[in-house]
Amino acid sequence: MHELPVIEKILKVALDHAVKHRVKRVLAIHLEVGELSDLEDQWMQHYFDHLSEGGRAEKARLVIERIPARLQCTQCGEIFPFAAASDESNVCPVCVTGDCRLIAGKGYFIKNLEVL
Ligand SMILES: [Zn+2]
Repeated sequence: MHELPVIEKILKVALDHAVKHRVKRVLAIHLEVGELSDLEDQWMQHYFDHLSEGGRAEKARLVIERIPARLQCTQCGEIFPFAAASDESNVCPVCVTGDCRLIAGKGYFIKNLEVL
């Protein structure tokens, strides 16, 4: 069910874009979704088909690309891949401060729209 509010936002962005640029139809929406996100592709498309009914983005295809999770060290700026299920993955491999934050892999991002 958590896909629903996300899809509402994505649809709104697509429709705003369609109105602003006088687009007749939105054919596809390219999304980047972080690998740590629990959004499921088939549910996203399911909700999208339902919510987009009758509008300019009706039945647009969601093209979902999974983005690997990455951490960045707040001390030295090193960027490294997040290894799931390991607490040690939060430790910077260069300076070993352990003070790292997630910079990619959790949210979603609208990359572009295919329109007519
Ligand atoms: Zn570091």
